[in-house]
Amino acid sequence: MKHISLLGATGSIGTQTLDVIRKHPNHFNLSSMSVGRNIELAIQQIHEFSPQLVSVQTRDDYEKLKLEIPNATKVVYGQEGLVEVATDPHSNILVNAVLGSVGLVPTLAAIEEGKAIAIANKETLVTAGHIVTKAANTYNVPLLPVDSEHSAIFQALNGEKINQVERLILTASGGSFRDRTRDQLIDVTVHEALNHPNWSMGAKITIDSATMMNKGLEVIEARWLFDIPYDKIDVVLHKESIIHSMVEYIDGSVIAQLGTPDMRVPIQYALTYPDRIDSISNERLHLWELGSLHFSKLDMERYRCMAFAYEAGRIGGTMPTVLNAANEVAVAAFLDNKLTFLEIENKIEQALERHQAISQPTLEEIISVDQETRAFIHSSIK
Ligand code: NDP
Ligand code: MG
Repeated sequence: MKHISLLGATGSIGTQTLDVIRKHPNHFNLSSMSVGRNIELAIQQIHEFSPQLVSVQTRDDYEKLKLEIPNATKVVYGQEGLVEVATDPHSNILVNAVLGSVGLVPTLAAIEEGKAIAIANKETLVTAGHIVTKAANTYNVPLLPVDSEHSAIFQALNGEKINQVERLILTASGGSFRDRTRDQLIDVTVHEALNHPNWSMGAKITIDSATMMNKGLEVIEARWLFDIPYDKIDVVLHKESIIHSMVEYIDGSVIAQLGTPDMRVPIQYALTYPDRIDSISNERLHLWELGSLHFSKLDMERYRCMAFAYEAGRIGGTMPTVLNAANEVAVAAFLDNKLTFLEIENKIEQALERHQAISQPTLEEIISVDQETRAFIHSSIK
């Protein structure tokens, strides 16, 4: 039986993690969870799963929630609340499905408690990959990928040595606007951008897929999860999202992982690794029904965010922190109709250009650069 702490229970990955737990009550138990502001859904989840600890984002919601749920569930709130859930002494694995770099400090706290980490929250690895991976090594805890591309690479690597890898090949669907030219992106609406062709996901990552920043963040995520240089990470457009990613070895063999696009599969694998259990979904991959799969080269000028991510990753230090923080604020502003779609990348470019990277930053330096970048983007939008 695995006892799970879940950060971001009310989100897209969070609710799908609960689907996996619900389907396999003999394997998994929800020990604790955090939510943001969706208290209504949290109340339903608490009644169904009876976690002994729940964290909410604000003090107001903390007061409200306490009145609505059984006394057996302790309620906490804020950043300390996230850390309390992440370090829950009754759990042995943390599923980090919170959104954004707010997941960094709780992840480090869970690692220091020796918990395995199933990581969906890619912003944490982008903003401070060197710190998170070093801590995981020091405390000898596994970082288990949930992101479908990284789960695919993890499965295709299957324990083989990274120095036998020629390159990792991440697949990218191309997002909501893959069939448009840059000129056709000038006045796209939030509603259009939220319409992803293959995956149903939270709003921020759906926009990141449309700008291709999601793939850029995933390149940096892969660099840290698999300890491999950027020169050995490639991206190929693959519009069906059936091949989730591939590993090319030095002998020319390429190993791919395939499946229908369903995030519950990589979530479940992170929870059961190194074992496998029955799929939650009845849907199986029937290649003959698909007939063909398509691949094309990614154009870095069409998708400028991809180029920014490689550049920030290669400079390293605090540059990826700036990339991520600027993107988080710019995407939130686009969703709030305060920026146009193409202004997202302009804001990120401005933030990167003015920043002098600090190499090997400490956690405090990361947090301070993250906050300073957010403040810069906010002020430049007003
Ligand atoms: P959602 O927006 O659907 O969910 C985010 C979750 O985090 C919600 O529970 C939300 O609470 C909570 N949350 C948001 N901000 C805060 C905050 N400041 N403090 C505390 N809690 C907060 O996101 P997704 O599930 O789509 O994505 C989560 C992570 O997983 C991201 O890092 C994303 O990149 C990654 N990921 C997602 C995939 C997907 O298919 N969705 C695929 C691969 C990776 P509430 O809603 O209650 O306010
Ligand atoms: Mg992904």
